[in-house]
Amino acid sequence: MSKIYKRVLLKISGEALAGSAKQGIDLSVLDQLVEDILKAHQTGVQIGIVIGGGNIFRGVSAATQGMDRASSDYMGMLATCINSLALQDALEKRGLETRLQTAIEMSSIAEAYIRRRADRHLNKNRIVIFGAGTGSPYFTTDTAAALRATELGADILLKATNVEGVYDKDPQDNKDAKMYKQVSYSDVLNKKLKIMDYTAITLCMENNLPIIAFNLHKPGNIAEVIKSQSIGTLIS
Ligand code: UDP
Repeated sequence: MSKIYKRVLLKISGEALAGSAKQGIDLSVLDQLVEDILKAHQTGVQIGIVIGGGNIFRGVSAATQGMDRASSDYMGMLATCINSLALQDALEKRGLETRLQTAIEMSSIAEAYIRRRADRHLNKNRIVIFGAGTGSPYFTTDTAAALRATELGADILLKATNVEGVYDKDPQDNKDAKMYKQVSYSDVLNKKLKIMDYTAITLCMENNLPIIAFNLHKPGNIAEVIKSQSIGTLIS
């Protein structure tokens, strides 16, 4: 099978695991996701994955209700670890070799994040899941994805979304919203296009890391994004 990338970093939001309930983990949704990751892996590309925690806990929301922001963000980071363990389990059940590395040490359930070690796992075609975001409060898992992709030399950051790509306005509320085939980092920032937070976009821009935003909910789409450049929106 053809492939255009050697190494990709896939960013999946926590909500992608929740299904219609929008909370928690729906195992049938997880199984579909794993099928898609398996197909992507069969293209021969090296895959790192950052998964969010929004289906379980979001620090910012708890902070607006009076919780200390740093404490609630640490809870959010732990939520990403729960999702990471679920994803690891489901991937391994389908016969894929994986490693989970977390930015907050939890040595009895995961490896600590060590860049060189992650690099080695990826070179051996193991799928590496990065849990606990960046390990620091006030960041998001989008920023964690941009950071891991940059430091591990990924060719592209694949940002899985609920829609086909990046639009000039929210396509879920505006029927006339137009999708960009390609858009610059600065347009995303200046036009406040909602795709990833500014910190994440800026990190990608400063390091020339291209991003493709694509629809996660079309079966087989992760592999399609890897094989062809005609899917989603390219941000570069
Ligand atoms: N978080 C954090 N630092 C990070 C990454 C995540 O503090 O580097 C916390 C933050 O509270 C965030 C939560 O973890 O709300 C879950 O991550 P995120 O909202 O990015 O998940 P997603 O929206 O992708 O499901």
